[in-house]
Amino acid sequence: MKLEVVDLSDNTNLWGTPPAARSCMHDASSRVSRYPSPYSADLKRAIAAYVGAGAEDVVVGCGSDDVLDSAMRAFAAPGDSIAYSTPTFSMIPVLARLNGLLPAEVPLRDVDHGYDIDADRLLDACAKIIYLCAPNNPTATPISREALVHVIQNAAGLVILDEAYAEFAGISYIDLATRHEHVLVTRTLSKAFGLAGLRVGYGVGAPELVSFVERARGPYKVSAPAERAALAALAMGDDGVGWVETHVQLARDTRERFRRELMTLGLDPLPSSANFILVPHTAAESLGARLRRDGVLVRVVTGLPESIRAFAAANGNALRIGVGPWPLMLRALELLGSALS
Ligand SMILES: *Cc1c(COP(=O)(O)O)cnc(C)c1O
Repeated sequence: MKLEVVDLSDNTNLWGTPPAARSCMHDASSRVSRYPSPYSADLKRAIAAYVGAGAEDVVVGCGSDDVLDSAMRAFAAPGDSIAYSTPTFSMIPVLARLNGLLPAEVPLRDVDHGYDIDADRLLDACAKIIYLCAPNNPTATPISREALVHVIQNAAGLVILDEAYAEFAGISYIDLATRHEHVLVTRTLSKAFGLAGLRVGYGVGAPELVSFVERARGPYKVSAPAERAALAALAMGDDGVGWVETHVQLARDTRERFRRELMTLGLDPLPSSANFILVPHTAAESLGARLRRDGVLVRVVTGLPESIRAFAAANGNALRIGVGPWPLMLRALELLGSALS
């Protein structure tokens, strides 16, 4: 019997892709003999309308990883440092290393501060770039506006705010990007928009700042089929942005239901403002292996900072579980239940 694999490990949209984006992929093949526009002018306009900014405030890329990578190249040189919280998005140390940047890691604050960023310690690093992520991956916790404003007002260099999961939080700080010369907010169509395989991300900031990022990025990074699908997904109506909004709400409802069930199992998940949940547990590695054996993939996270009590109690280990249609969550719950009993 072939086991149907349930992949809850990468925080993508497990309900799928907006129908408008799917249907335009069918005839994309007839146009691939031609180049896309070098800097995706149409896509920038559509993103600007979606986030309520001007097209000159937007840079797009081959996933937001590409925008993050380009921003590092544009605003820091090899040997410069980049400050960020731990734990955070696993690509940041990778991209920092690729760009020759030295990491300055600062643990998040504890539960009594809502796992907020430690603004003063991040600033103390005097880094060329401060990277922040809200909601943060893998904790799914937000950043307070107060801490964020404190960082922005006192930073010596560029502040990047990664909002890959902003749709699920219902909070965005894009207004801070367009109001300051040194703030770049990055977003993606890989998560709420269900287009991870097409690689489309973007950054929003002051026009001069995004033009620096765009020059470091170079032309022709978003393919023609990816641009068409992204435009379809961003279009008004039930097949595009409406589909995204409906499924974001579904993800939020399912997340809360799943979190309650995890607590019934005696687990102690962190609160979540994203489409995934972090569950600290000493035996995360063996639990993850048990689930994988039965066809459910979750992310095992290790080495979490033990300055945070919940992580210390779990020896720095946790499971990060993506949220999708309820039958998938039920399967994860059943396996967790039997592994824990
Ligand atoms: C998934 C994710 C991204 C998205 O990367 P893409 O390159 O746009 O697919 C960016 N930041 C964080 C924190 C993520 O979890």
